[in-house]
Amino acid sequence: MKVLKFGGTSVGSAQRMKDVSKLITSDGEAKIVVLSAMSGTTNTLVEISDYLYKKNPEGANNIINRLEQKYIDHVDELYATEEYKQKTLEFLKEEFNYIRTFTKVMFTSFEEKIILAQGEIISTNMVTNYLKECGVKTILLPALEFMRTDKNAEPDMNFIKEKTNEIMEKNPGYEIYITQGFICKNAYGEVDNLLRGGSDYTACLIGAVLNSEEIQIWTDIDGMHNNDPRIVDHTEPVRQLHFEEAAELAYFGAKILHPTCIQPAKFAGVPVRLLNTMDPTAPGTIINNKIEKGVIKAVAAKDNIVSIQIQSSRMLLAYGFLRKVFEIFESYKTSIDMVCTSEVGVSITIDNTSYLKDIIADLMKYGTVTVDENMCIICVVGDLSWSNVGFETLATEALKDIPVRMISYGGSNHNISFLVKGEDKKRTLQALSDTLFYKK
Ligand code: ADP
Ligand code: ASP
Ligand code: MG
Repeated sequence: MKVLKFGGTSVGSAQRMKDVSKLITSDGEAKIVVLSAMSGTTNTLVEISDYLYKKNPEGANNIINRLEQKYIDHVDELYATEEYKQKTLEFLKEEFNYIRTFTKVMFTSFEEKIILAQGEIISTNMVTNYLKECGVKTILLPALEFMRTDKNAEPDMNFIKEKTNEIMEKNPGYEIYITQGFICKNAYGEVDNLLRGGSDYTACLIGAVLNSEEIQIWTDIDGMHNNDPRIVDHTEPVRQLHFEEAAELAYFGAKILHPTCIQPAKFAGVPVRLLNTMDPTAPGTIINNKIEKGVIKAVAAKDNIVSIQIQSSRMLLAYGFLRKVFEIFESYKTSIDMVCTSEVGVSITIDNTSYLKDIIADLMKYGTVTVDENMCIICVVGDLSWSNVGFETLATEALKDIPVRMISYGGSNHNISFLVKGEDKKRTLQALSDTLFYKK
């Protein structure tokens, strides 16, 4: 059975919910449908939580009331019959009253997770009721019953596999199986989530544990583009990507796909197809384990990067220096993205700056430390195996007028990364696009 995920933009209004319902029922095939919250809702729930952290229940209540009114309007537009209007309004009333109960209790991250989960709970209930109103045989499978993370906050694959299969076996014969993206329980049985944008991850996990024929990620754009369409003039969808190419792009900021979601699909050998809700017949992008020989596929950028250079004459001919440096980052649970070394120094990049001050203080024991903030990693993805000649030259040639802080090549067969100033991001992306894809 295929697993289809529709993002926030795809279920962002009553009309969109109707369109999605039509799309998923047009071929009569049974399918699992993972939904995000309506676009904007998770951000609003984060805002509500922020007010509650700051002990401002009035501020929170104002936003809750506004959000509730929005949903009441959606209900009015979505359902044709009084029966389903009333049923859904009843459900919403209970939901929002539940959210309001958190304005009266002590507020911790535990309560925040519960609040964040309501966006997906609401959207899936609304679409399920709509499908039922249309006479489609539909069942809502609560994700909190089968999506679970382990003590390391990673998906608990054994549990997910067992429970998901069990639930599917117990409920045969439906045309549409709806469930919530993003939300899960953790190892302690508390409500939790798979981090922002995590609905893609849910879909890929379900597709992997059920050994689906295909996982489809439906969004508001025609597949993964060869560059960020929000920044660069003239971009085009890439028709095919290898799992690793897609993972690099997703990690390096091509927002269309959540970075962690590729791994489970890759391990299970289930292809992932990116499709456009606004143009359902467009071919989109297929992600599988095929490599297109010698082709550069796409460019992506990741912002808010900090680079740290440690120079030490003691590194010259010494062993163990890199280990000491890396251990400092490990002790502050800060992961490193790029690394470049020379005989007398090492430069690395991080995007989590929570412990930057402590890290720098520790590094200073080993040499001279230089920090550059507001940097940007530009990542070029494709068949960049070292046996292919000419691609490094092509990429560096494109950047001949741009100051480049670091270059990393050879870490994988699919990537060259450049570190540039944040302010140079747009012209770097444009220059690479012009040289690599639309030769001028
Ligand atoms: P959804 O709510 O459907 O999950 P998102 O907002 O998470 O949608 O992500 C989709 C958006 O990501 C697209 O509208 C597009 O503007 C943006 N995007 C950024 N980089 C790329 C890229 N390389 N290819 C396609 N889309 C991209
Ligand atoms: N609703 C969640 C978010 O906005 C998850 C998702 O949409 O994928 O991050
Ligand atoms: Mg998304």
